[in-house]
Amino acid sequence: MAQDNAAEDIEQGTARLQVAAARQEESGRGVVRIPRSAFQALGITEGDAVEIEGKRATVSIAVPAYEEDEALAVIRLDGLQRANAETSSGEHVIVRRAESVAATRVVFAPARKEMRLQGPGDALKRVFFKKPLVAGDLVATHGQQPVQNVPANVRRMFNAPAYALTEIRLQVVSTSPKGIVHIDENTEVELRAEFEEPRSARGMINYDDVGGMEDTIKQLREMVELPLRYPELFTRLGVDPPKGVLLHGPPGTGKTRLAQAVANESDAEFFAINGPEIMGSAYGESEKRLREVFEEAERSQPAIVFIDEIDSIAPKRQNVQGEAEKRLVAQLLTLMDGLQSRANLVVIAATNRPDAVDEALRRPGRFDREIVIGVPDEQGRREILAIHTRGMPLGDGVDLAELARSTHGFVGADLAALTREAAIEAVRRIMPRLDLDAREIPPEVLAELQVEKEDFREALKR
Ligand code: ADP
Repeated sequence: MAQDNAAEDIEQGTARLQVAAARQEESGRGVVRIPRSAFQALGITEGDAVEIEGKRATVSIAVPAYEEDEALAVIRLDGLQRANAETSSGEHVIVRRAESVAATRVVFAPARKEMRLQGPGDALKRVFFKKPLVAGDLVATHGQQPVQNVPANVRRMFNAPAYALTEIRLQVVSTSPKGIVHIDENTEVELRAEFEEPRSARGMINYDDVGGMEDTIKQLREMVELPLRYPELFTRLGVDPPKGVLLHGPPGTGKTRLAQAVANESDAEFFAINGPEIMGSAYGESEKRLREVFEEAERSQPAIVFIDEIDSIAPKRQNVQGEAEKRLVAQLLTLMDGLQSRANLVVIAATNRPDAVDEALRRPGRFDREIVIGVPDEQGRREILAIHTRGMPLGDGVDLAELARSTHGFVGADLAALTREAAIEAVRRIMPRLDLDAREIPPEVLAELQVEKEDFREALKR
């Protein structure tokens, strides 16, 4: 059995490994963990570059597996790496040693439309210095944070100062020469101003970007991702995957973000409908909009339709006065029932008032699966804080564990706001040292910019 053979050799110098998700705290660090046997098979040592080939090939730096993974032929990939290699947990990838050459030129572009970035690539050069890159990859500027349990030579690669106050995802637009390259002293690095549409949305929001939901993600993978990804499998097994999943939990707990992550990780198109917004449309318009979204989603299978605040579209009919609401509920029921049972489409709806949703919608064949998304516990808060401080230069005094302890009752949205506020506090502190006419922050000021414990303390007061 393949599993017994830690790094099954398939051709000289390669290893076939099964993908597992990176641990939350290591996601985005720009390394992959592989067993010792794979190091031997590849003839490499810690800190060497490896190529990881799923449906697409990407590159990273290999570090040793966790103790408990040693006997397994697994490679731990974070969400970005899975997106870049076009693979997902449970699938197999081929890993080989990568020879990177020094690039003469590397061009990056922001991967988010709303991002306003521009300027010399010098700071980027420091972040990605010596790290293997390949055109088309999506990369994150938080890769400079130290990795646990790795030798000094590897840790040194991650010593660059922070690039910004928050994590920034960039697309590697092009490299000269082509192929696997790294940036060295002589590389010209350019940051293009125009947004570059990422190859797929997968790298933008994935499971690594939702904290405190390990079990929920597991459930959603089985309920939604696997059927979307491997429909044949379910057909053959004769099981009908769910058409509708209802997420319920308080606002700001990450339901929307989770739905987006599931869509991206399933390589499915994502269509979002906002309950209150669609209700606001003119007479007859709401149903039409709803129909159009479903039609478009059916054309773009695999797809996920996400209906936020479904209680406003589909309140209990006895509580409904208006004709418009009644017609909209009826329309939604018709659309759900009309979905082909084999359609590669799942409707995920969110509500914070499950009791207010029309019961007819919760019958079998409609939203017959429910997942409760609770307020995060301490461990969850810790994970969420880690996600929102990725790439944030944190002072030594900042203790995320302690912050997680002292933020009882905070949901994800509150924690995200807290980290944003703390960053603003940090900027406020250095304001007196800025020459606002200069329009650019001097590199030495930027290099010192850190978010400190006191910034979080101030932020907590608001
Ligand atoms: P909901 O749909 O439950 O109201 P959202 O998904 O819209 O919540 O969350 C709003 C924002 O709060 C997200 O964009 C994210 O920044 C943050 N957030 C909420 N929950 C989480 C979480 N579990 N992990 C990481 N970020 C979260």
